Amino acid sequence: MNPAAVIALANLQRRRRWDTAPRAPLLNLPGARRALAGEGLPADGLTQDDLPALARLCDAVSELGDCLALRRLPASQAVGVLNELASGCTGTTQLSVSGHALRGNVDWRDPDPVAGLARRTMQEFDGVDTSRLRQCQREECDLLFFDRTRSRTQRWHAENPCGWLERQRRRRAHS
Ligand SMILES: [Zn+2]
Repeated sequence: MNPAAVIALANLQRRRRWDTAPRAPLLNLPGARRALAGEGLPADGLTQDDLPALARLCDAVSELGDCLALRRLPASQAVGVLNELASGCTGTTQLSVSGHALRGNVDWRDPDPVAGLARRTMQEFDGVDTSRLRQCQREECDLLFFDRTRSRTQRWHAENPCGWLERQRRRRAHS
């Protein structure tokens, strides 16, 4: 499973190449909505009051993502934050008929958008292949990524700019 929400939330406040100042996407509501929507995450129903919880969620997911990527023990305080934020989510199990088979489904009800995001990251953390969860190996970049290559050899969070800049640096070092 591709842990898309984990990667997106972990990287949300990390510095990008085009940033001229420290990233602060969660300072106001329009910025937070833009940041979530830009990552393909639901921002519907997000209010000003949700922003502190959203910042805590991003910090916790970011810390846990680093723990897994760097093979450190998961920080129990960050685990506690996720548990607290998702504590209002309730699930209802439903059995349905699909052709000649039966399918079990859980219908989730989330009290607010941040709780829904917390629940989703918990589900992603549960099934994630941690050997594919890594930090970009370019020194100036600490973005997390999920290596989906068959060979498991992806080193940069993206070719543009990190892979490209690293190869350029090596060419310079050899000339
Ligand atoms: Zn990178």
